[in-house]
Amino acid sequence: MSVSTALPEWPPALTPEQHSRLILLSSTYALSHGFTLLPPSSRQPPTSAIPAPLSLLPTPFPRELYELAVSLQPIYNALYARITLDWDFLDRVMGGSVSKVDEFQGELWRGWKSIRDDLVQPLQLGLFRSDYLLHQDQSQGTSEKGDNIGIKQVEFNTIAASFGALSQRAGEMHRYLAKATNGYYSISPHLSEISNFPQNEPLKKLAAGLAEGWKAYGNEKAVVLFVVQDGERNVFDQKWLEYELLESHDIPVIRHTFSELSSLAQIEPSTKNLLLPSPLEPSLPSKEVAVIYYRSAYTPTDYPTSSEWDTRLLLEKSKAIKCPSMALQLAGAKKIQQVLCEPGVLEDFLLNKKRPDVGLENKITQEDVDRLRLTWIGLWPMDNSALGKEAYQLALNESERFVLKPQREGGGNNIYRENIPPYLKELEKEKREQGEPEKKEAFILMELIEPPKNVQNWLVKGGENKARKADVVSELGVYGVSLFGGSEIQTFNSTAGTLLRTKGRESDEGGVAIGISSIDSPLLV
Ligand code: ADP
Ligand code: MG
Ligand code: MG
Repeated sequence: MSVSTALPEWPPALTPEQHSRLILLSSTYALSHGFTLLPPSSRQPPTSAIPAPLSLLPTPFPRELYELAVSLQPIYNALYARITLDWDFLDRVMGGSVSKVDEFQGELWRGWKSIRDDLVQPLQLGLFRSDYLLHQDQSQGTSEKGDNIGIKQVEFNTIAASFGALSQRAGEMHRYLAKATNGYYSISPHLSEISNFPQNEPLKKLAAGLAEGWKAYGNEKAVVLFVVQDGERNVFDQKWLEYELLESHDIPVIRHTFSELSSLAQIEPSTKNLLLPSPLEPSLPSKEVAVIYYRSAYTPTDYPTSSEWDTRLLLEKSKAIKCPSMALQLAGAKKIQQVLCEPGVLEDFLLNKKRPDVGLENKITQEDVDRLRLTWIGLWPMDNSALGKEAYQLALNESERFVLKPQREGGGNNIYRENIPPYLKELEKEKREQGEPEKKEAFILMELIEPPKNVQNWLVKGGENKARKADVVSELGVYGVSLFGGSEIQTFNSTAGTLLRTKGRESDEGGVAIGISSIDSPLLV
């Protein structure tokens, strides 16, 4: 689907007084409401915080496309649950050349394969985020700004999808600014209408998702374990989930880094219960873990030694519900996203009645499948298949249209446009063992999404008291929760709100954590 509503000229003009007042109001709101990050160097325990990078005004987003993205989420939840339950498919896609040339994915797949017959917990929990950019179809001639705009999916995250809590706060902040400034000083009709600011509660809904997992586990005394990275600056986004779990659901959380768990985690041999020392007092009885929620374990640096892989396998073999399981993490690989694009694969996952019930059985139609596929853009393998050979030629000869992606998460890993051909040439020089696939097979080639031009906003970098006006690109994330693999009554599938990250157009990558994007909210137009 594409819409032809022109996006408004943005941002509307602000006087210098209005501008500095908005910076003051937004920064103090951010600090008062925990819309914050730790400063770049901070002590333990922390003694200060800075506002998370923010945009002064919400950014216009076509209402119909926002609603479309949200409406697709239950189907995506079902899709990724079904992929995760299809071991043959995961073996075929992830156990092939990707696992041979990408060391990290190889460890993940081989590790999972080595223990998957010993797994004792059928239930799996996903807190997902499907990311989109607005795409303006250049081919159909764009006479007027705003013509032919659709959404195209960037990627689907199945592990450590972050910023749910801060996103809720960003939306609340923009509503507050509207109320505190008489509809943003009546500088734009869009800003004066509060119904253009969507209700958005990812913090509440993601915590409710973790609580669903905890309930399904069925031990009122059990806790939720957050596995976190050392030196994480985005702690408040995580702490909000902890507070919400405790305050609204009476569920305590224990936080540990991955490396701490290698000495602390114990599995009770007969029950396979995962036990951790009580954080209150080591002499108290151990705590049983109902749900393991990973905000770590998704990137090679989270596994500096083989002991982290041992810990991952130990946790995986426990009775705790994993969010995500190793299989669900594998399902989120970019390679899977590419294979889904091949003819018939999506139909097989969504329409085949023999597949397990994951909350939407028999309710997905061919029309849903078509709607979902319309949000995809070209994706190619980089292997020796006919498609792969075509991709190689495109990558070399039309590199301006493409991004080359490895199987990595966390931003900053992609190769863009003219950098692709020399990068591929370097890869070809790398030594490989006899019979080993080519290094390029660990990548996928993706067509570049072309967001509408001439949208600007005021961006405030965390900890600074000035805003920078920039040409911007906004990435919409839609959160989803899926509890699957168990009985029908335990199955849970829901949407869980949205995230809008806005970055300067000059920047190809968009991670908030790596200091490029601001956390924004959509203004529906
Ligand atoms: P990661 O898992 O590291 O976040 P992404 O696939 O999200 O990887 O890529 C990182 C960023 O690169 C995205 O947030 C987006 O800004 C940009 N990007 C990725 N794919 C495309 C694409 N096809 N077109 C335009 N930009 C893209
Ligand atoms: Mg990702
Ligand atoms: Mg991403």
